[in-house]
Amino acid sequence: MTATGRQCGDCTLCCKVMAIEELAKPAGAWCPHCAPGLGCRIYPDRPAECRSFSCVWLVNELLEEHWKPSRSKLVLTTSEDGLEVRCDPGFPGAWRREPFRSELREWAISGETLDMTVVVIVGQRMTLLTPEREFDLGIVGPDERIVRELDGTRVVNATVTKASDLEQ
Ligand code: SF4
Ligand code: SF4
Repeated sequence: MTATGRQCGDCTLCCKVMAIEELAKPAGAWCPHCAPGLGCRIYPDRPAECRSFSCVWLVNELLEEHWKPSRSKLVLTTSEDGLEVRCDPGFPGAWRREPFRSELREWAISGETLDMTVVVIVGQRMTLLTPEREFDLGIVGPDERIVRELDGTRVVNATVTKASDLEQ
């Protein structure tokens, strides 16, 4: 149990939407060790990445009950840049349903002034949400980064670049 009193219960969605490096498990495919809706078959021996993982719903009660991943089909995590919303590829339009779509837009609006991004990920395909529009970024690899072009705090363009090119 977490500080929020929430438990994963019948939810196992992170075992589908997250990539697990140690298992070479790609994002958007069920882990072979998962019994969907029941739990991890190798729980005592699961990789460190799995041990340290908690989605935002599990640990932050500011995210209301309807965001529970098994219901919403959306797993929220934070990154250095902001919020990442991984959508169950079996329900690729889940993030466009209400109330999720409106709440995501509200976060994109507040994120713009705080320089925090809201990114929706379906499989490996990413979409950057801004108050005004969606930037479909296509498939973004683990070695690639989103580069935003800003006009003040407003995002006017977004592209994807190799991380190694940014370091040069
Ligand atoms: S997505 Fe969140 S609530 Fe669901 S199993 Fe993973 S950590 Fe638990
Ligand atoms: S090893 Fe277990 S906890 Fe980790 S992704 Fe697979 S099923 Fe989930």
